[in-house]
Amino acid sequence: PSVLEIRDLHVSVETEHGAKEILKGVDLTIRSGETHAIMGPNGSGKSTLAYSIAGHPKYTVTSGTITLDGEDVLAMSVDERARAGVFLAMQYPVEVTGVSVSNFLRTAKTAVDGEAPKLRHWVKDVKNVMGDLKMDPSFAERDVNVGFSGGEKKRHEILQLELLKPRFAVLDETDSGLDVDALRIVSEGVNRAKAANDMGVLLITHYTRILRYIKPDFVHVFVDGRVAEEGGPELAERLENEGYDRFTNQGATAN
Ligand code: ADP
Ligand code: MG
Ligand code: MG
Repeated sequence: PSVLEIRDLHVSVETEHGAKEILKGVDLTIRSGETHAIMGPNGSGKSTLAYSIAGHPKYTVTSGTITLDGEDVLAMSVDERARAGVFLAMQYPVEVTGVSVSNFLRTAKTAVDGEAPKLRHWVKDVKNVMGDLKMDPSFAERDVNVGFSGGEKKRHEILQLELLKPRFAVLDETDSGLDVDALRIVSEGVNRAKAANDMGVLLITHYTRILRYIKPDFVHVFVDGRVAEEGGPELAERLENEGYDRFTNQGATAN
């Protein structure tokens, strides 16, 4: 089993008015097989946490640590983080014109594993996972994220997740823009990956809806760059009923 540890993490972004601190001391410990939901109002820093774990260059860690089984994740390049087994599904994935889904997946798998997958098994694996995710085989020949619908982007993320088999997955707003059927299909994919690989999951979400399909072991409420409250699944139920008002003290203006 592995452990991803975040200790007193402070993160800033560069704005036109200078550096702005977004994360103000975040502590989180995620072990293999555990699912942690990060919930919170818009602008509370949830995506900033995801990008910081993944190593996005726009986000500067000013203090604190992120370690994977004691290894310093912050000292690793983006690629090294992926090879170490940390996977990020982006809220806004980038378009890659001229690269097919099929080639992209094989290149990513080769990079993560350090060797090319055996072609016959790989083709079968891709076909099986695409079938499970109810994706048309022709999807594999499309350019990555070019003209993808919201639902196709999410399925493509979960396709990567199931094929790359990371130790930890950070899923940022995987539920956004999905209808009920797509949400169920995508959630089942996450649950399969959890079961198959004893994967740890950091599930970032504004809404409680996805938590009916992907059961969290722990819930952390993010407010203004900090964890304001933590609990078990019952905390998500409470948020479903009460919203974030009692954390933000802004009443109806909270977005
Ligand atoms: P969430 O995902 O919880 O909605 P974000 O992490 O996206 O929150 O944003 C947190 C805060 O940081 C917001 O006030 C946002 O405007 C600000 N922020 C995030 N990224 C940047 C950036 N690249 N440049 C300037 N401000 C940013
Ligand atoms: Mg601090
Ligand atoms: Mg966000």
